Amino acid sequence: MDDPAYHRKLGLSKATFERIEDEFSKRYYDGTAYRSLPDYRKNLEKGTVLIADTVVRGFPKIPRTLVLEEGIPRYFGGEFAVEEKMNGYNVRVTRIGGEIYAFTRGGIVCPYTTWKVEADLDLDPFFDEYPGTMLCGEMVGPENPYTPHDYEGIDSLAFRAFDVRDRETGDSLPVSDRRAILDEFDVPQVPFFGLLTPSEAVDEVPRIVDDLDEAGREGIVMKTPHVTQQLKYTTSSANRGNLEFAFSLPFDYGQDFMFRRLIREAFQSVEWNESPDRARERAHALGEAILLPMVDTIENVRDGKTIGEPHTVRGEAEAIEALLEHFRDQGLQLEIETDESVEAGRLVRFVKKTQATKDKTDAYLDGMIVQE
Ligand code: ATP
Ligand code: MG
Repeated sequence: MDDPAYHRKLGLSKATFERIEDEFSKRYYDGTAYRSLPDYRKNLEKGTVLIADTVVRGFPKIPRTLVLEEGIPRYFGGEFAVEEKMNGYNVRVTRIGGEIYAFTRGGIVCPYTTWKVEADLDLDPFFDEYPGTMLCGEMVGPENPYTPHDYEGIDSLAFRAFDVRDRETGDSLPVSDRRAILDEFDVPQVPFFGLLTPSEAVDEVPRIVDDLDEAGREGIVMKTPHVTQQLKYTTSSANRGNLEFAFSLPFDYGQDFMFRRLIREAFQSVEWNESPDRARERAHALGEAILLPMVDTIENVRDGKTIGEPHTVRGEAEAIEALLEHFRDQGLQLEIETDESVEAGRLVRFVKKTQATKDKTDAYLDGMIVQE
């Protein structure tokens, strides 16, 4: 076999690449072997993929600021673009040897997402013109096998692009070029709020965040015009949504996941200069987001209901079957709740079962004594 010289494509010496090569997991998709990096290593992004003679870079982790007014000027020296941060799952879509692949965050081909982007979008004209790129975006909407969230105007699952990168170097097209090019190819993108200077941002960004919060949307990603730096900030409604979800499965989620979101709320309350009444309203909403889902879950365990993450998916029968098999291959325990024939093929509601919350809650309900 030809040496695909992955090390050169990854910008590593041969010896360095050989040292980390074992960290890649071997996988198969539709008879094609590929490898993906499950974590950050040696300047390589999590989710970096080696497939045939091609390297597909992972999508970089985006840092967060807890305080806009100080964080923005500290991070950005000049103008930056503001886009909506949509709440779904990250995918990189690329074409290799004439085939379209959609990789999730960890660099795994998702058969269902691959089917979905091919069914909804006509990507060949784009990849004919921009071969060697990857289209980065978020899969959003309620009928979602990973991260369901409602968006006005999206009734099932939809792709929203937020970046186009060279898949080998990871370099992005400038934001303004990418906005224009993807419009031209009819690829839907996340909403764009414009270019701002750090001093304009002081008033403008909190206003944008406030409107998004009102609408129950997740937040913003700010990026330099060439996407060399990115910074994210999330709304209170997103923080609460995450907490509701995590506290519905309190023993399956890491406690630092909850803690980080509580901290964000406290800094926002201070930065927003909230009146005592307003701060109290926030506290009330936060308390509900924490306690009510836990109470529900404890009652559900008591009543013998299935505990886990509920999802709905819709699509061609084979794509749905491939998705369910993909999840089972990954060791997930699924409970199929309903499985109907619909116009699009199949509509399946299932639960990804989680064990820790069920077991621990059962034990506490049985009167298990805790030393605390
Ligand atoms: P990770 O950083 O590993 O992706 P995370 O859950 O910590 O995981 P998030 O807090 O969701 O990440 O924020 C980063 C993610 O936001 C990106 O990976 C991307 O999937 C998503 N995203 C949504 N909208 C945008 C956008 N407009 N620009 C860039 N990223 C966006
Ligand atoms: Mg996210």
